[in-house]
Amino acid sequence: MTVLPEVKQDYGRMCNYINGQWVESGSARELDVMNPSTGESIGTVPLSTKKEVDEAVEAAHNAFWQWRTTPPINRARVLMALRELLEKNREELARIVVQEHGKTIDDARGEVQRAIEAVEVATGIPSLMMGYNLEDVSAGIDEYCIRQPLGVFAAIAPFNFPLMVPFWFLPFAIGCGNTFVLKPSEQVPISMQRVMSLVEAAGFPPGVVNLVNGDKEAVDGLLDNPKVVGVSFVGSSPVARYIYRRASEQGKRVQCQGGAKNFIVAMPDADLDQTVPNLLSSFFGSAGERCLAGSVLLAVGDVYEPLKDKFAAAAAKMKVGYGLDESVDMGPVISKSHRDRILGYIDKGIAEGAKLILDGRQVKVANYPEGYYVGPTIFDKATPQMTIAREEIFGPVGAIIPVEDLEEAMGIIDDCPFGNAASIFTGSGKAARTFQYTVRCGNIGINIGVAAPMAFFPFSGMKDSFFGDLHAQGRDAFNFFTERKVVITRWF
Ligand code: NAD
Repeated sequence: MTVLPEVKQDYGRMCNYINGQWVESGSARELDVMNPSTGESIGTVPLSTKKEVDEAVEAAHNAFWQWRTTPPINRARVLMALRELLEKNREELARIVVQEHGKTIDDARGEVQRAIEAVEVATGIPSLMMGYNLEDVSAGIDEYCIRQPLGVFAAIAPFNFPLMVPFWFLPFAIGCGNTFVLKPSEQVPISMQRVMSLVEAAGFPPGVVNLVNGDKEAVDGLLDNPKVVGVSFVGSSPVARYIYRRASEQGKRVQCQGGAKNFIVAMPDADLDQTVPNLLSSFFGSAGERCLAGSVLLAVGDVYEPLKDKFAAAAAKMKVGYGLDESVDMGPVISKSHRDRILGYIDKGIAEGAKLILDGRQVKVANYPEGYYVGPTIFDKATPQMTIAREEIFGPVGAIIPVEDLEEAMGIIDDCPFGNAASIFTGSGKAARTFQYTVRCGNIGINIGVAAPMAFFPFSGMKDSFFGDLHAQGRDAFNFFTERKVVITRWF
């Protein structure tokens, strides 16, 4: 399977992938898949029915026993084949991500790389899935703990990482011997559609990996199907809370990663030449549509004036446009309605008295007048009570709050209901340690603007940013996707 040289302009109607077959959905409901950079439709996505979801779950259920009894090293080999196919098609996949999501090509390449790394980690399954044992827990009695797969797992993904987020779950779930049904975001279904053809080529037995396109109806079908033993979700907090409750009520394992409002603290001793480029990438990378994006800058003491000026001046120079152009720094946001929502937040910031020092509302992108662009936007003199400092905007809008000291900064972070990520820029080990020790966020950056864990660490999150216990990827994944069974033996 080779790399396609060109990106397509029309990907047609998405299919479901069930039991190793490409299946047309019979649903009468469908949506256009939009290229947010151009405002043009590049395909359609069916919103599958509950019955179609049940067919996918049934296929996964039927495939489970044979896959579960396949030796882990053989399961790992199929993952290795998938890894090679992802590698060969990495540029094509990155270009599709740009087309359907709007991020820059470099960001998209990074996303594909992260997906590949998740598969690489999961290929260690024969070692990582091992249990443990102890001889002579009592005279002549041995005890051991084995890990076993559970059955059909489902994953429900958000729009902002069309390809990476499904890979937080897919390779770990199936590596452990489970079978899998993915419901990608209906806003960005093309990347995973393409991945399914690589799954097909990699040689997974039919039914081990399935994909069903859809929206709430498909999600509810997965939550209510008794043959689904566990659910992984990534998306906004209200939906995370709903899915956590509905799936756990039915006795399923659930892990739900929710929304975010991430704070970045700059201490008076921060190295500004290093800090500013990190802030740009954190606040405006992927047009602010990362769950780890910086959203509020807490500038401590004397750093406030010089940092504010340098940050705004550098952000003003960012080139906004279609991410397939390598010179572009920031693409559009995902949809027209999301852009309107972001513009609403900017209006609210002004109305509540924050000072708009960089206004991205009038940004013009040559050749793409219909794209959903918002330029980098910065508010100064925000306060912790303002809407722009409290709610998740999920767009390229930053707010600066001047604070007296680290204590005040950490107090503001603590008051925020979200707890996904927080970063500190400082030359002081003491300040960094205090920050790491105290702040209630799952992912902490120390002189790192986007604290994104590698695939061998869990992607954490606290407070309203996470519902559950075991997180995505890392060692948590092997616990989430296996049951621990204890065996106690005595031979007469
Ligand atoms: P979303 O919650 O709107 O949608 C996520 C998924 O849930 C989609 O597949 C969608 O079809 C489904 N869905 C939407 N509404 C539903 C409903 N009422 N019932 C059942 N299913 C429903 O999120 P989004 O806009 O696609 O993604 C952006 C959000 O995801 C942001 O809040 C962002 O912070 C969050 N996110 C969090 C993390 C993390 O690790 N914590 C990572 C990425 C994104």
